[in-house]
This record gives sequence, structure tokens and C-alpha cells, in this order.
Amino acid sequence: MLRPHIVILGAGFGGTNVAKKLRARVKRGEIDVTIVNRTNYFLFTPLLHEVATGGLSPRNVAEPLREVFVHTGIRIVQGSVDGINAAERTVAVRENGQVHILRYDYLVAALGAETNYYGIPGAPEFTLPLKSLADATAIRNRIIDTFERAVLTENADDRKALLSFVVVGGGATGVELAAELSEFMSGLVGRYYGASHCSAEDPRKCSPEEPSLTLVNASKELLEMFKPSLRTAAQDRLTKNGVTVRSSTVVSAVTRTGLTLASGETIPASMIVWTAGVKAIIPHFEDLKPTLTGGRLAVDGNFRLLGSDRIFVLGDAAAYVDARDFAKDSSKTRPLPMLAQVAQSQSGRVAKNIIAAIAGKPLKDFHYNSPGSMVSVGQWFAIGEIFSMKLAGRFTWWLWRTVYLSKFASWRKRIRIAAEWAFELVSPRDITKL
Ligand SMILES: Cc1cc2nc3c(=O)[nH]c(=O)nc-3n(C[C@H](O)[C@H](O)[C@H](O)COP(=O)(O)OP(=O)(O)OC[C@H]3O[C@@H](n4cnc5c(N)ncnc54)[C@H](O)[C@@H]3O)c2cc1C
Repeated sequence: MLRPHIVILGAGFGGTNVAKKLRARVKRGEIDVTIVNRTNYFLFTPLLHEVATGGLSPRNVAEPLREVFVHTGIRIVQGSVDGINAAERTVAVRENGQVHILRYDYLVAALGAETNYYGIPGAPEFTLPLKSLADATAIRNRIIDTFERAVLTENADDRKALLSFVVVGGGATGVELAAELSEFMSGLVGRYYGASHCSAEDPRKCSPEEPSLTLVNASKELLEMFKPSLRTAAQDRLTKNGVTVRSSTVVSAVTRTGLTLASGETIPASMIVWTAGVKAIIPHFEDLKPTLTGGRLAVDGNFRLLGSDRIFVLGDAAAYVDARDFAKDSSKTRPLPMLAQVAQSQSGRVAKNIIAAIAGKPLKDFHYNSPGSMVSVGQWFAIGEIFSMKLAGRFTWWLWRTVYLSKFASWRKRIRIAAEWAFELVSPRDITKL
């Protein structure tokens, strides 16, 4: 009998962990597993803001898939998913201009999410996203480049405009990035660029306000998923670090020179990073029109795409409503949040359900028990809610780093990151433009 072939689309937090769990539960030779991913590595997104601000080297937040799955028999395919044919059970994968067809018995779609610009004019053209390794490197390069350009910008107003930076989005990514960015910039000014910003004719023009960083947030407060006291602690920390926080501030357009707000006001900026939201990546289905809930693929309680019993969806792409929440309180019918820890914890149930489906056994629902979450706000400070405990400060920051370190698959990577973090505590960040 032919072995069932499971094809996993996307090697992020969801897809990678489904593959690991399948491999852990099923003996080699009983199933075939293929992973298709656009890059040849798994990307640890929660630390991307540190790459964008020179705290970590790009390669330290990426784990090569062939290393993660070495000696497992899992086939890795680098390529972009072009389309799915549910009736024929095939996936078209594009690589280097050529389309290859893969056949599957069961398909796992875990393609994650992409930046959402909400149709705001100019946002895709004039802002930098933070979703990929290339995005993080581009932000870091842009910051360094801007400081280099400022050296030859004599006019104080021009220099002020050049050194105006904005982060849009007051969620976890925006806050973590803004906090690290402010520290990166003060390090740049304090150590390398400060003196060159002073006017040769009048050293008093060496304004301490340069550069400026504004965090623009549409909702009333930052980090709305946290308790009010923790939000305040995070905002106070940002303000202490010199970040201007503008809440209840809605962006209506973006231009080459800055933001236009719904109020009509403009905020000048030479670099704008867009962390205001994401939307699920929906693959092209050749023969069916999937149901979407809030822009994500609607699935049943067993993670099967509605209308298909061979396609499982998880992670950011799936609108999974916890059945227990639904039964307890019908107002709580919102899909689980787009978080790495959600995707990771769903992966175990998806793997078990695929194994059950192969064996012809009943599939089971999934219930998410959140262990809590943490957000770093620069060096030595983080906030967190863990098992209903509110935490803020140095210990939380240490815990945040320890937890994230433990999430990497290989000890080699963990040691490299720990070493880089330790080194960074006693030495300035690297400013080589990559
Ligand atoms: C900057 C940043 C910081 C974050 N910080 C946190 C955090 O601190 N804590 C937390 O819980 N969550 C965090 N998240 C959210 C977290 O990254 C996602 O919720 C999680 O990655 C979702 O897992 P996933 O498997 O659904 O998708 P992903 O992990 O995004 O994986 C999707 C994979 O599919 C691949 N892919 C996409 N399209 C194609 C295609 N057409 N063909 C082939 N491959 C494709 C991608 O390359 C990627 O490898 C952060 C996200 C970002 C961007």
C-alpha cells in the first residue's frame, strides 16, 4: 500500500511544529512528509525587531530547515505556493520560474500573514514593513544610512527632518521596535554621530532633541491586550526613552515626507515603519472558494477547511474559534489571535487529527489555554501577564529573553544568541551597513 503523503505549506511556527509532531508520533516509513516554504529557513519573528535595530545578526534568528529536520526523512522544498487543486489533491509550487506539481493525501496550509496597509494611500510605497529578514535588514540599513547622510546635512531644519523617525502601530511589534529603536539611536548619537551633527559655525546648534522618534497608534492606548497598569508602565518607559507616543491618532495617507493624519495634521518623517496590522495569506484555490472569517480561512473544530476533509489550516491563516469559548459565552466567538504561541500550540492537535484521519478514527477539537504573554520595552525592561500575574521590570525582561531563547530548535542557535546578547550588554551595536 502507498504511504500517505502529507504536504505542509509554510514552515513557520505552525507548519514546522506540525512536521515535528508528525515525525515524533509516526514511525519513519509509515508516512511521507514534505514541507514547502518560500525560504530555506524557519524565521523566529518575535526577535526581528532586534535585527532591525542592530541587536542581533540576521542569521541568528533564522534556522535552516534542513538543519531542523536533518535525519528525519522529511523532504524540504523551497518554492512559492502558486495554487491548490482540492479535487485532484495537488499543489502547484513555483521555483525559479518553473511550476512543479506535488500530490498530497493530506494538506496542511500554514502560510501565515502579510502586512496589512488597510488601503491607506502611500502606505505600501513609503513605509517599511517588518515581516521578513529582508525587512529587518532594510530598516537597520535605512537607519544607519540616514545618520550617515545627516553628517553632510548642515542646515538644522533639514537635519531635523532627516532624523525624524516614525513607527506606526501600538501593538506588541510596534512597542518593541520603538523601544529598541530609541536605544539604538541614542547609542548612535552618543558614540558615533553626535559631534558631527553640531554645526561647525555654532556648536550650540547641536540640539539634544535630534533625532526624534514618534510612535503613532490608532487606538486609545498602546498594547490593548494587557491590563491598564502594564500599558501605563510600557508607555512610561517609552516616554522615558524619548519616544513621543501619539495614541488615538489615525493615519489617512503616507507620502515621501511623512504621515497625513485623519485630523489633517502632518507628521514629517524620513523613515516610517509600518507595524499597524497583518492579514492572512490566502492561497489560490483552483476549484473551490473558501469561506473567510475576518479575512482568515474558516475551519471546523478539527482544523479542516470548511468544505474539505483533506485540507487542514492553522496559525495566522486560520480563523479557529475555540469551541469551549463558544459554548461558554457566545460573544467570545472571535477566532484565536494571530500569535506564534497559538500556532505552535495548535500544531499538536493538527498532527494528531491527521494521524486520526489516516487511521479512520474520530478527530478532536482544540482548546487554547494561554500561558500569558510578554513584551519587551527596550533593554532591561519588559511587561507581562503570566497565569494572571502582572509583571513588569528587569526580572520580566530576563524571563522574556529566557523564554524566547528556549523556543529555538537547536542548542547551537541558542548559544549563539545568548552570546550575542551578552556581548551586546557590554559593547556598542554593530553599525556596518549590510
Ligand atoms: C515582527 C513580528 C514580531 C512578532 N512577535 C511575536 C511575539 O512576540 N509573540 C507571538 O506570539 N507572536 C509574535 N508574532 C506573530 C507570529 O510571528 C505569528 O503569529 C506566527 O508566526 C504565525 O505562525 P504561522 O505558522 O501561521 O505563520 P508564519 O510563522 O508566518 O509562517 C508562514 C510561513 O509560510 C511561508 N509562506 C508564506 N507564503 C508562502 C507561499 N506563497 N509559498 C511558500 N511559502 C510561503 C513564509 O515564508 C513562512 O515561513 C510576531 C510577528 C512579527 C511579524
